[in-house]
Amino acid sequence: MLKHIITTDCPRSCPYCITKNLPAIEPCPGKIEEAYAAHREETSLMLTGGEPTFRPDLLFTAFNAGRRYFEDVNLTTANGRFLHHWTAKFFDSIIYSHHDRPAAELPFVGPSVRAYLAILADQFSQDLVGMAHASGFSGLTINEEQRAGERFEAEVLAPCEGFTIKINRRGHCLDQKILLPDLTLVEDFRDFM
Ligand code: SF4
Repeated sequence: MLKHIITTDCPRSCPYCITKNLPAIEPCPGKIEEAYAAHREETSLMLTGGEPTFRPDLLFTAFNAGRRYFEDVNLTTANGRFLHHWTAKFFDSIIYSHHDRPAAELPFVGPSVRAYLAILADQFSQDLVGMAHASGFSGLTINEEQRAGERFEAEVLAPCEGFTIKINRRGHCLDQKILLPDLTLVEDFRDFM
C-alpha cells in the first residue's frame, strides 16, 4: 500500500500522531500524477493526513489520479461529518479514526459507504463493537500505540458475524511507503518519530 499524507494540518493534537513531528510542508498538487505513476506497482492507495478532508481540492486531485494507477483508493479521516458527504461512497473504504473520543459519539454510516472504525487498543470493549456494528460500520481496526502500551491480545475478541476486526501492530504503519505532502517518499517513518 502507498500512503499519501495530503496535508499535515489537523485541528486535533493527539500525542501519538505520527505526523506531529513533520515540519510544515507545502503540498505539490501538480506532481501527484507523476508520483503515483512511479508507484503503480502498489495495488492500494491510502489518502491520509493530518486531516485530508480539510483540503478537498487536493483530495479531489489525488482521488482522480489514484483511480488511474491503483486498484483501490481509500481514505483515513477523523472527520465524522465526511461519512455523510456525497463523495464518501466513491472511496473503496474509509478508515474513520475515533481515537480518544467517547463511544457515544459514533457517527452513523450510510448504506452506500464502506467505513471501518479505528480505535486505540485501550478503547476496546465488546460494547463498542456492538455500537459500531449498529452504526453501520463494516469493521473495526484496533491500533496499538506506536510508542508505548501493551500488546493487544487477540484472544479477547469475540467473533462478530458480518463485521471484520483487525489489529494494527505497533510500528506496522512506519514500514509502509509514505508520500509526504510535497511528494517526497519516506520508506521508514521512524526518522520522524
Ligand atoms: S486526528 Fe489523526 S492526524 Fe489529527 S492529530 Fe490526531 S492522529 Fe494526528
